[in-house]
Amino acid sequence: MHTVSSICPFCGVGCGMGLRVDNNRIVAVEPVPNHPVSQGKLCAKGWNTAFGVDPEQRITQPLKRQGHNFVPVSWVEALDDIAEQLRDILANDGSQTVGVISCARATNEDNYALQKFARAVLQTHNIDHCARICHSPSVAGLAQTLGSGAMTNSMADVDHADLIVIWGADVTENHAILGGRIIQAKLNGAKLIVVDPRSTRLAKLADLHIPLHLGSNIALANGLLHIIFREGWQASSFLAERVEGLDRLQAHVTAWTPERVQRETGITPELLYRFAQMYAHSPAAMLCYGMGITQFACGTNNVIALSNLVLVCGQIGRAGTGINPLRGQNNVQGACDMGCLPNVYSGYQSVNDEEVRAKFAHAWQVPQSEQQGMTSLAMMHAARDGAMRAMIIAGEDPALTDPDQTEVVNALKKLDLLVVLEMHLTATAQLADYVLPVASFAEKDGTFTNCERRVQRVRKAIEPPNSCLTDWQIAGELARHLGNDGLSWQTSEQVFSEMAALTPIFSGMTYDLLSQNQGLQWPCHDLAPLGTPILHQQTFPLQANGKARVISLESAEPAEMPDAEYPLAFTTQRLHFHYGCGSMTRCAPVLERETPLGLLLMNPSDAQQYGLSQHAPVRVSSRRGQVDTRVEITADLPVGVVSMPYHFNEAPCNRLTNTAQDPITKMPELKACAVRVERRVSP
Ligand code: SF4
Repeated sequence: MHTVSSICPFCGVGCGMGLRVDNNRIVAVEPVPNHPVSQGKLCAKGWNTAFGVDPEQRITQPLKRQGHNFVPVSWVEALDDIAEQLRDILANDGSQTVGVISCARATNEDNYALQKFARAVLQTHNIDHCARICHSPSVAGLAQTLGSGAMTNSMADVDHADLIVIWGADVTENHAILGGRIIQAKLNGAKLIVVDPRSTRLAKLADLHIPLHLGSNIALANGLLHIIFREGWQASSFLAERVEGLDRLQAHVTAWTPERVQRETGITPELLYRFAQMYAHSPAAMLCYGMGITQFACGTNNVIALSNLVLVCGQIGRAGTGINPLRGQNNVQGACDMGCLPNVYSGYQSVNDEEVRAKFAHAWQVPQSEQQGMTSLAMMHAARDGAMRAMIIAGEDPALTDPDQTEVVNALKKLDLLVVLEMHLTATAQLADYVLPVASFAEKDGTFTNCERRVQRVRKAIEPPNSCLTDWQIAGELARHLGNDGLSWQTSEQVFSEMAALTPIFSGMTYDLLSQNQGLQWPCHDLAPLGTPILHQQTFPLQANGKARVISLESAEPAEMPDAEYPLAFTTQRLHFHYGCGSMTRCAPVLERETPLGLLLMNPSDAQQYGLSQHAPVRVSSRRGQVDTRVEITADLPVGVVSMPYHFNEAPCNRLTNTAQDPITKMPELKACAVRVERRVSP
């Protein structure tokens, strides 16, 4: 038995992990004692990684649809067929009718290759991934205020913060090792404020819990600013030197009196005042937020509202401060960084910039489209309307995780060609014309980027089962079948080197340097050869004068509020023991034992009103569909709000969720809609 150094494949914390290998099989994992993020710890998901990559539960050879079934075929046959169909579609209907959805679970190299395949082979910017439905508002919102849409500080900064604010995130459930570090910081004397309608584990430990009404984040932030300006607590010299737009914001929030804020948020003026006082006066306050901010139709404005607060109080650019989106998937930061978004190439280089397009056209020797690319949801709508003919979906499961699931399934069924790159036969893979088997993270070299922008090496520990390939190899082979040899890399390091050469914020990174430094945080270049743990220390990259910007905002209710027909507010969440669509964690007996079935979380008072006992069978209905599940009674949810996790394909909560979208990022409003709950007669 030997141990291979790697990184946990689940959440964006990016814990160091040793893979114990025996006879070409991962038989166990172990934590890495000196790892800068995880410090010798793993959470329950991390400890159970081996089950998720077990070849016995995997697809291990290409599958081709034949009627209602799949038949195994050779790689040559699968790639020949797919290339021929793509060639026909491109020739007849053009490159806007094809699209690629890449994978926030796959490596940076896989993601770089997939966006290059879209842009250089299919010649379209129709490339997107699941950041669209988690943190695209972070990328867009922080880009408007700071000039860079990522965590400004490092996770280790919780050790240096005097105050930690967790806003719309359940950290101990979803980013457990960071959650533990926050609890330790609290035990060491840091103050903790949690803003969440739910009474999360951290909310129960917090100095202040702010249980605002679902979706009233902008009103709360405006109310905090009202008090801060009224009391003269703003960071005046910082603002004068480094921020624009202050006068308008200050005038705007005069209307946001504590009484008005109480009407919109349910938070009393006294609690609001204490929050404002603690945040404005803290020597170092670190604000972290999650999808309780982003997954709204006003998600981008929610992010801007938090950014306003951080800037007005000058809580940025120093250790223990900053605005820090907690990214969900192990490499969702990396998939964004690699340019798997319709509007940017790697390193957030705009596709609308002629010079940038010319640079990539020259490097790839292929003209670059000037036509706007589509988001993943726009691609689904185009598929539904017959305007999208072929899609390649790598490792994502939109049939389970996108909103309004029935519509998504109908859209995917309408495609002439659906190719899915997967390890397991997920709900989306079951709809495919071809399923191509991919190597797991333990079967390939590459890099993941965690949510603090740390690019870390993962290493091949075992051979992939049967004929599984990496996503970048599949992209390269398919490109070759379509007559483009520009993706014919021999190693993942070659992919990374090409990306780094074309991407200024990664230009100082090599595999050797990443290995020597336990990862490096971007930007990493000549001026910052060992990376950048804290962004914006002197200037903001937003504009030439180096200043950030605050922006005045009006609040907005969720698009669908409870009414007589659908009287309960509905939200979605994650659970500690499962991950994403559950395709990996539900293979682990220990994790499956802890939470084996889907559930609807409901306050005891609501349960009593509906005559429901613990685990009673219920039907949950919204305007878009219905789901049968069972009740889990918990006082952690407020009265009038119910919640479902999205890991369970037998209780797919996204049949219920709303497709109302953030106008800027097209983020659907996954965190709020209205439902009705009825008792079912039989389980
Ligand atoms: Fe893996 Fe996240 Fe758990 Fe760390 S906290 S072990 S990265 S799932």
